[in-house]
Amino acid sequence: MSSLPAAVEHRDFDYVIVGAGSAGCVLANRLSADSSIAVLLLEAGPDREPFWVRAPAGVGNLFFDERINWKFSTEPEERLAGRRLYWPRGKIIGGTSAINGMVYARGFAADYDHWRDLGNPGWGFTDVLPYFRRSETSDLATDGYRGCDGPLRVSSPRQQHPTTDAFVRAAVDIGVPPNPDIAGATQEGVGYLQHTIGDGIRSSTARAYIAPVRHRPNLTIACGSMAAKVRVKDGRAVGVDYVCDGVLCFGRVRREVIVSAGAIGSPQLLMLSGIGPPEHLDRVGVRPVHALPGVGANLQDHLAISADYEVRDGMSLNHSLSGWRRLMHGAGYLLNQRGPLSVGPSHAVAFVRSDPGVSVPDIQLSFRPLSFAFDSRSKLRIHPFAGVQFVSAMLRPQSRGQIALRSSDPNVPPLIRANYLTAPDDERVMLATLNWIRRIASSRPLADIVVREHLPGLRVHSDEEIMNFVRRNSQTLFHPAGTCSMGTGPMAVVDGRLRVRGVQALRVADASIMPTIASGNINAPTIMIAEKAADMILEDARRS
Ligand SMILES: Cc1cc2nc3c(=O)[nH]c(=O)nc-3n(C[C@H](O)[C@H](O)[C@H](O)COP(=O)(O)OP(=O)(O)OC[C@H]3O[C@@H](n4cnc5c(N)ncnc54)[C@H](O)[C@@H]3O)c2cc1C
Repeated sequence: MSSLPAAVEHRDFDYVIVGAGSAGCVLANRLSADSSIAVLLLEAGPDREPFWVRAPAGVGNLFFDERINWKFSTEPEERLAGRRLYWPRGKIIGGTSAINGMVYARGFAADYDHWRDLGNPGWGFTDVLPYFRRSETSDLATDGYRGCDGPLRVSSPRQQHPTTDAFVRAAVDIGVPPNPDIAGATQEGVGYLQHTIGDGIRSSTARAYIAPVRHRPNLTIACGSMAAKVRVKDGRAVGVDYVCDGVLCFGRVRREVIVSAGAIGSPQLLMLSGIGPPEHLDRVGVRPVHALPGVGANLQDHLAISADYEVRDGMSLNHSLSGWRRLMHGAGYLLNQRGPLSVGPSHAVAFVRSDPGVSVPDIQLSFRPLSFAFDSRSKLRIHPFAGVQFVSAMLRPQSRGQIALRSSDPNVPPLIRANYLTAPDDERVMLATLNWIRRIASSRPLADIVVREHLPGLRVHSDEEIMNFVRRNSQTLFHPAGTCSMGTGPMAVVDGRLRVRGVQALRVADASIMPTIASGNINAPTIMIAEKAADMILEDARRS
């Protein structure tokens, strides 16, 4: 049985938040806005950002950086030729928003209406829209959909690359509707991407939500602090055991514990605390405290496939991002935060259907006017030729995976089984993603720029060859979600107010509560969840 020694340091707070990621930083900001409320924010990773967190083009440098990255991997995936997929996650203040690709997307209105219809009142699109708006300051804030005075900076690149223009026009040419703002009235169609970047600097939730309020005396930020267990007494969460500098500490709560450790960390922490499937907990030596079979189940992710094309000289950013030119642009970036290092890798996107009969687009097709691969030493290598890259993902997978404990030791990474492509319809959608890439690449004006398909290459042609390629080469779009699902059935972990079912004074608020994964990149939806959670927590406190 897991047993921790008695904590040597005790401190009292109104709220303890576990995890300073996309969600946790939002909650820390909103809950500590009232100076009479004492908040402890616990984060396992460091407080200090390396340079490449700030510079948008640094994403590739953060991918394997173990100082700030949990570097998880899945178990061998049976339907992906037995490969383990690498799952980076941020381990730093700002969490995964500090290492992600910065694409700003919200998903479709239908995603949230579906959450509501699953028995979660208050989560329909019109309910959540105000929280999306409240979180951001976008330079497209001209209508009722976007926000103009929120903490998160959301911007369009100052200039678009001509090959990105060609991608957009090629998609329009084959009938994809143009969309001037994919985070506006609808996500459907093709358009230029916005990023969580302000003045050429990444807008992580640490920069957006914590930097302006870190001076608050009622907000304690404890980085380098690994939560080991939520203590539950008589059915109520009373605080969190955590280890900081080798010392076991206890943050006691007068009101609530909020778990925002992400889609992997949150179910892991609940299970370490004895909240989860009892037989599983018994097996790994954790004393069950409250039976909740859904903890760790319902894991969903966006599986993606890339295709690389060689294009005419001068029609890709590869040249600018290699050799002495990269150094030159680096110096320019340091001076004025402009140039190719000040933008994220993906520049445009199309949301399309795998089949005309599908009611809401189920494929996201991102376009990069550059191309790269990771070498055997995990170093990002820009291709030596002028290249562009498509990354195409299936948005509403039917396959479900699971997070489980390997051990009662919080330092042992949990077991991740994504079970990609175990639902037959997922294969059909993956086939369609590659067909879409090829249709757009062979449509004008992009077709006039393309020299050849580098990967998969034209030898990969039949459905079977394409599926083989997908099994051997697909990767995650890094969006695990759903492992502490919100809902009403026996597998639901939290209710519509994000309260852990059957345990008082305990909530979960992060990507893990999504009952079904949002159809797009999920940083903005996670921030929205935390904004709404903060309101619900304060409302419930006022009522009690
Ligand atoms: C490489 C990559 C690229 C991505 N690109 C995009 C993109 O372009 N656009 C987009 O919208 N989304 C993107 N995402 C996904 C998105 O960033 C995440 O889904 C989102 O940040 C998840 O937020 P979260 O709050 O659920 O978890 P996180 O942000 O991961 O926060 C969890 C926090 O909890 C901490 N923690 C965990 N366990 C403990 C513990 N026991 N004790 C203390 N602290 C703990 C972690 O260190 C972390 O800081 C990307 C993700 C990756 C990895």
